[in-house]
Amino acid sequence: MSTQYALVLNSGSSSIKFQVLDPNAAATDEPLVSGLVEKIGEPTGLVRVKINGEKQEDTSAVASHAVGLKRAFLMMSEKNVGPQDLDLIAVGHRVVHGGEEFAAPQLVEGDVIERLKKLIPLAPLHNPANIEGIETAQELLPNVPHVAVFDTAFFANMPESAANYAINREVAKEYGIRRYGFHGTSHEYISQQVPSLLGKEPSEVKQITLHLGNGASASAVDGGRAVDTTMGLTPLAGLVMGTRCGDIDPGIIFHLSRSAGMSVDDIDTLLNRKSGIKGLSGVNDFRELETLVNDGDANAKLAFDVYIHTLRRFIGSYMLNLGGVDAITFTAGVGENDVNVRKAAMANLEAFGIKLDDSRNANTEGVHGAREISTDDSTVKVFVVPTNEELAIARYAVKLAK
Ligand code: ADP
Repeated sequence: MSTQYALVLNSGSSSIKFQVLDPNAAATDEPLVSGLVEKIGEPTGLVRVKINGEKQEDTSAVASHAVGLKRAFLMMSEKNVGPQDLDLIAVGHRVVHGGEEFAAPQLVEGDVIERLKKLIPLAPLHNPANIEGIETAQELLPNVPHVAVFDTAFFANMPESAANYAINREVAKEYGIRRYGFHGTSHEYISQQVPSLLGKEPSEVKQITLHLGNGASASAVDGGRAVDTTMGLTPLAGLVMGTRCGDIDPGIIFHLSRSAGMSVDDIDTLLNRKSGIKGLSGVNDFRELETLVNDGDANAKLAFDVYIHTLRRFIGSYMLNLGGVDAITFTAGVGENDVNVRKAAMANLEAFGIKLDDSRNANTEGVHGAREISTDDSTVKVFVVPTNEELAIARYAVKLAK
């Protein structure tokens, strides 16, 4: 039997990232095809595909999502791996906001697009692009089932105490204001792997998952159920991130408006794009931050310290609310690669049964897949588990397409 593939699409307002992959592959396997379409609507565009490790690029203008995706498919067809050449069984779409409407991945049929459109006010920058991506792909691949996979779904059943903000009930209800959480596909994918690493049943495990990438979030998971998470109505809340501030006093926004005369859009840009590690240090990549710290740059050191302080604040609060944890797991670009972040985040926690093994933590050469970085006598296990959101989306898509 030929290998069956899924296409996974992540559509932004001016870009599309995609992969064609075997949903039964191992997490560390390279996808058959990975690619991106960028600068949609600009005078010069970019379509890049990587097939079996070999890259191709086209920089002519990309007028629309449809033009970009068609061009990518054509480049794939030339190498005999276009959608028509493969046994493509599902298309999985990453959708940022599922609101209270979608608590699980959803086959796109009937009134699903209409229901997705109703959620646009909750994610005005992301959901319209996600919907455009779905509609474009449905036109190009009408005979393949399309499945929407939501960043929020894993958190849809959090306890009410964690999901509600203490603001006026009527206003909150009218405008859908509650903690939705994001990166759910990653937190779920990671948390599902931990019980077997511990040799326990999922129902027995209390854990904290730390998705530390450009965006960053932490979750508390009890017996497979997400019971708290750091992101909120939007992905701006919680941990300090590459360019986002994370939790701040909401009064800062009024102060900036009244005293600095900044508009809502100015403040939005400041807090989403010019804050976080970048706002404090001038760089948002942790590799550059480390170089600056090593060079004695005081702002870079402050950025690192604020990042770690905030991260530990949430880890501590989740340990308390869970009544203790069995495991803490690091994932995503920073979590998987930054030895110093993991070391600082887990320092001086022996009193809570957490002991990092420095050499396991530092040993990154040739290591793939999940690994333990705590000592053998650490009662709380600390792991690094690589995330693979595309693979998780592909698996959901195939499951629902059947
Ligand atoms: P995204 O949120 O964009 O998906 P990723 O999870 O890919 O982000 O994380 C990207 C970030 O990971 C980079 O901005 C960088 O800060 C960090 N990173 C990647 N590789 C390393 C590394 N080897 N050491 C430290 N940090 C790294």
